[in-house]
Amino acid sequence: MKEVIVVGGGLAGLFNAILLNRAGLRVTVIERKSYPFHRVCGEYISNEVIPFLSGLDINLDELNVARINRLEVTSVSGTKVSKKLDLGGFGLSRYTFDHYLYKKALAEGVNFLLDTKVEDICFKDETFEITLPGKVLTAPLVIGTFGKRSNLDQKLKRDFFYKRSPYLAVKFHIRADFPDDLIQLNNYKNGYCGVSKVEGDRYCMCYLAHRDDLRRYGSLPELEKNIICKNLNLKALFDHAEFLFDKPEVINEISFEKKQPVENHILMSGDTAGMIAPLCGNGMTMAIHSAKILSGNVVKYYKGNTFNPQQRLKLEQAYAGEWERHFARRLWVGRQLQRMFGQNETTTMSLKLLNALPPLANYLISKTHGQPFT
Ligand SMILES: Cc1cc2nc3c(=O)[nH]c(=O)nc-3n(C[C@H](O)[C@H](O)[C@H](O)COP(=O)(O)OP(=O)(O)OC[C@H]3O[C@@H](n4cnc5c(N)ncnc54)[C@H](O)[C@@H]3O)c2cc1C
Repeated sequence: MKEVIVVGGGLAGLFNAILLNRAGLRVTVIERKSYPFHRVCGEYISNEVIPFLSGLDINLDELNVARINRLEVTSVSGTKVSKKLDLGGFGLSRYTFDHYLYKKALAEGVNFLLDTKVEDICFKDETFEITLPGKVLTAPLVIGTFGKRSNLDQKLKRDFFYKRSPYLAVKFHIRADFPDDLIQLNNYKNGYCGVSKVEGDRYCMCYLAHRDDLRRYGSLPELEKNIICKNLNLKALFDHAEFLFDKPEVINEISFEKKQPVENHILMSGDTAGMIAPLCGNGMTMAIHSAKILSGNVVKYYKGNTFNPQQRLKLEQAYAGEWERHFARRLWVGRQLQRMFGQNETTTMSLKLLNALPPLANYLISKTHGQPFT
């Protein structure tokens, strides 16, 4: 049997695993948590992925997703841009989606090591050594899908890890009086909050904020009261919605710095290869699409019963080139938009410009999204 180890069981890891397993490779996914679990994510997925998901026999109706086809962007000053989304998307919680994919992968024969944190990955003599608590595994190929920031980024001495990021992100599920077909992006000083429906009667509310503002106000509720609720759309939700978690999901150090799709011979996919600013609403699609591209390349170069090390460089170059062509430009545009929507004044100005020039909004969306893929 041919073997690939996938480190990290988010969307990129799960889709790589499903696709490689279907192609006849023996795949082990190592995930530090145990499904199902909540993650910080806006949970709006672009319809770009629908043909691909249908081809894999993933039925979104079975998952009771929310169909979303309108976008509103608002600012503290009350300026608002409303837009019909040409392609649109759907809302589905990561709790449900990742768990569904895990069960599917398991049923199809993928091997999982859950509640297992990978401590290190070393490459020597054409073999990877993957260090887990109490044991070391070996494999000819490793796929890195360990997300936006992991202990492994530090172990691998990846450049972006040492450029500190001031952003933290927080997610709630709420019940609220809110349209089912709308994704709303509400800006405030140094951040923004997305709101949209997921399956059932829940809505996802996920915000990005600045560490200095949290320090200044001392706690998330005070930050919400003093910064986030300056946007009156958000104040209405904080005042009237029913909050469904005992405490929110929180992550720190969200970095949009450039990363490399291949490092130390590890083939990176999803946020591990590069993370797009959350306001673009396209990170999950990119994670899924990058898994499709990576697994396709692995299958192409993993001929015969064992991996021929002489093919490694070709595989790495082919994947890195394809990854750059598909995603590098989107990530760059995402970084510029992140700057534009970080300040009250620039957001209001940008929204006025978008209202005056409606095709500009379509243009920006097209630059941060790709075409539907199969
Ligand atoms: C605030 C915010 C809002 C967002 N909103 C949206 C949105 O609305 N729409 C959208 O499309 N995208 C959104 N995104 C982006 C999206 O969440 C990511 O792009 C997507 O989750 C990437 O998937 P992934 O598989 O690469 O990583 P992840 O889903 O993060 O999975 C990585 C996995 O690796 C595991 N792991 C890490 N280290 C180890 C280790 N050492 N050993 C074992 N396991 C490990 C983790 O536990 C995790 O399960 C948002 C992101 C943020 C921060």
